[in-house]
Amino acid sequence: MKKYSDFAMSTCNKFKEIQEKFVEKYNLNDFTEWFYDEETSLITFKKGQTELNFEYIPIGSYSNSSKTWLWAWNNKELLHNNKLKTILIKQFGKENNYSRLTQASFDADKNIGWELTAIAYDLIKAIGSYRIINEDNLEIYFLLTDEIDNNFVEELKKINKNKTKKLIQCKKHGFSRPAFICQHLNENDKTGFEEAFETEIGMHLEEDDDLSAWCNKCEEARIKDDGWNQKNMKIAKIKLACEQCYFKIKETNNK
Ligand SMILES: [Zn+2]
Ligand SMILES: [Zn+2]
Repeated sequence: MKKYSDFAMSTCNKFKEIQEKFVEKYNLNDFTEWFYDEETSLITFKKGQTELNFEYIPIGSYSNSSKTWLWAWNNKELLHNNKLKTILIKQFGKENNYSRLTQASFDADKNIGWELTAIAYDLIKAIGSYRIINEDNLEIYFLLTDEIDNNFVEELKKINKNKTKKLIQCKKHGFSRPAFICQHLNENDKTGFEEAFETEIGMHLEEDDDLSAWCNKCEEARIKDDGWNQKNMKIAKIKLACEQCYFKIKETNNK
């Protein structure tokens, strides 16, 4: 296993070059204005009539006043579907015993933002990154995953507005997409975990797709009855859970 400091350094070096090329390719430093929209997941760069749009994932933020880093997956105020992709980084951190990748928030110096963004870039498919500094002197780091054609922006806005509408608020995890589970599933017991379709945290979901899972017993009843019906639905008593809770339970069952 690589020592964290070695891993971080080599990842940062690799990333530095990629990021420089990215900034150069789009002339990002030439733009005079930028703004981002949580609802649409778009960051827009503007200069006069020229506009450039990218889809983004929030990675985390560094507070210059408290000198702490906060991962996006633990930022309950963040209203964003894609923030959960950062849990992939946490999982990688767990496997390799890299505490900076698994701790929700910790004290650090200023360099931490680019360091963790470089690691995020290594683990999540993206084309580059961007940092903004807001009026509270908070540095917010984004991975930019895709350039969005200007003609497609309006359409994307519509799609994303609908997605945001569907977010629920979990007591433990804040804003999250809804998931549906049978009453027997929980974070402590291995009950089995049957899914409507194969899932991965933070994945893209079509309008009609919802994360849904049920236990072995419910699956037995469902197979016996050749599908869901009134009787076995009564046993399943499907309830609402948040996306993070859903994947916690899935993890318990895969241990
Ligand atoms: Zn069940
Ligand atoms: Zn939750």
